[in-house]
Amino acid sequence: MAWSGEPQAAKPGEARRFGTTLTRTEDGWVVDGTKAFATSATGADWAVLLVSLAGPGGARHAAAPESVLLLGCDLRHPSVTVDTSWWDPVGMRATASHVVRFDRTPVPAAWQLGQPGDYVRQSWQAAFIPHYAASFLGAAEGAYDYAIQYVEKQDKGGDPYVQQRVGSMAVDLDTARLWLRHVARLWDTGRIDEARIAGSRARHVVEHLALSTVDHCIRACGARSLVRPSPVERILRDLTFYVRHDNDDHLLATIGRAALGREHDASFFKP
Ligand SMILES: Cc1cc2nc3c(=O)[nH]c(=O)nc-3n(C[C@H](O)[C@H](O)[C@H](O)COP(=O)(O)OP(=O)(O)OC[C@H]3O[C@@H](n4cnc5c(N)ncnc54)[C@H](O)[C@@H]3O)c2cc1C
Repeated sequence: MAWSGEPQAAKPGEARRFGTTLTRTEDGWVVDGTKAFATSATGADWAVLLVSLAGPGGARHAAAPESVLLLGCDLRHPSVTVDTSWWDPVGMRATASHVVRFDRTPVPAAWQLGQPGDYVRQSWQAAFIPHYAASFLGAAEGAYDYAIQYVEKQDKGGDPYVQQRVGSMAVDLDTARLWLRHVARLWDTGRIDEARIAGSRARHVVEHLALSTVDHCIRACGARSLVRPSPVERILRDLTFYVRHDNDDHLLATIGRAALGREHDASFFKP
């Protein structure tokens, strides 16, 4: 588990502020404050905390990414508590990304991973980005499989509009798989710089392919595909939420900056 999320801008009606501060001690660090989006809290015993020497803001929201530090944290320490009331999202309900409070949690120096700024400087997040595309593709494949089953059951395979929807879905899935293979090949053959930006390109393209596949599925099948226990009802909610993990507008602008040879943030797509 890697926990960074410390959104700094409050949403309407949100009284609490998220964020951690870090204090150096003789034998390590003390972490104080809260993080949101702490995936697997209550289930995991350990997490890697992305915290900033510059104060609240984790990594994605940090004003100074070079100040981001990775600390291993034993979540069984009594100073670590989980607020399970915050996580009530539209989708991804089968997982949990709770708010976690660190009440002056001690972290020994031996549990520090690398040096401040290493994570961003060495572009580790860029190695992680293709997994979003793989997850989006999984959602799209689920919608496609169900659409085929649905259309065949209702004997609508002869309808030319349905045929076009199915054709579009099939091409979307092929395209997504080819993108992922392309990214994997770049990593496997050591073309690291190309692999990093290709991972973001794949994440961008596959977000749109997956959303379009789910839309085609719903249009081909109809309203009952969105009535439980249809899996499409869940896939639509999960995908709608998971693609928000990064902002695609910023992601695409980052791809543009890279193509123009400009400085760009390949980790968190900051403008
Ligand atoms: C299902 C799910 C699981 C997650 N799991 C984890 C996890 O395990 N670990 C973890 O660390 N995080 C996790 N996250 C959190 C994720 O990394 C982001 O921090 C979170 O999605 C940001 O939430 P937000 O869009 O509400 O916040 P904000 O960061 O406040 O962004 C709101 C919107 O404003 C945009 N924005 C932000 N700053 C600016 C700016 N300066 N100018 C213009 N636009 C801006 C953003 O791009 C976004 O579109 C998870 C998120 C989701 C949805």
